[in-house]
Amino acid sequence: MHSKLTCREFVEFLGEYLEGRLPPGQLARFGGHLAACPACVSYTRSYRDTVRLGRSVLSNTDETVPGDVPEGLVRAILAARDSEA
Ligand SMILES: [Zn+2]
Repeated sequence: MHSKLTCREFVEFLGEYLEGRLPPGQLARFGGHLAACPACVSYTRSYRDTVRLGRSVLSNTDETVPGDVPEGLVRAILAARDSEA
């Protein structure tokens, strides 16, 4: 049984989706939602930009850059951005 993915669910699972951790069934629902929902397409784009930003911030330090930016860090970057605006 397949139920439609809501935007809320989409956002909740986006991190796992981008890390390739979603099971195939869920992946198909994600693809279907992306094809039908321009809002989530642009959300995905900005999410990716944020992850990239997180990586460039990390690469400015001498520490080893981890393969995946933790979600908490992404949130912290977004919060910092918001408070600057
Ligand atoms: Zn959506």
